[in-house]
Amino acid sequence: MRAETEAEAAVEVELDVPKCVASGQCVMASPEVFDQRDEDGVAILLERHPGADLLDGVREAVAICPAAAIRLVER
Ligand code: SF4
Repeated sequence: MRAETEAEAAVEVELDVPKCVASGQCVMASPEVFDQRDEDGVAILLERHPGADLLDGVREAVAICPAAAIRLVER
C-alpha cells in the first residue's frame, strides 16, 4: 500500500451504503474512487482518501448522487 500524503489524509470520502439506490452516477463522475457491486449495483468505495486530482470528480458525485449517500469530509 502506498503512503498517503498529508493532503490526501486531510480529505475522507464517506459512503453510506444502506442509503445507496445503485444508480451508478458516482461511478460515472468518479470511476477512480467508486465502483459498483456486480450483484446489485450498490456502490463500493475504492479510495477513501483520494488525491487532489480526484476531488473534482468526487465533489460531482456528492452533488449528483440521488440518495445523498456520499459525503466528502475536508479537515
Ligand atoms: S450515485 Fe449514490 S445512489 Fe448512485 S450508486 Fe453512487 S452512491 Fe449509490
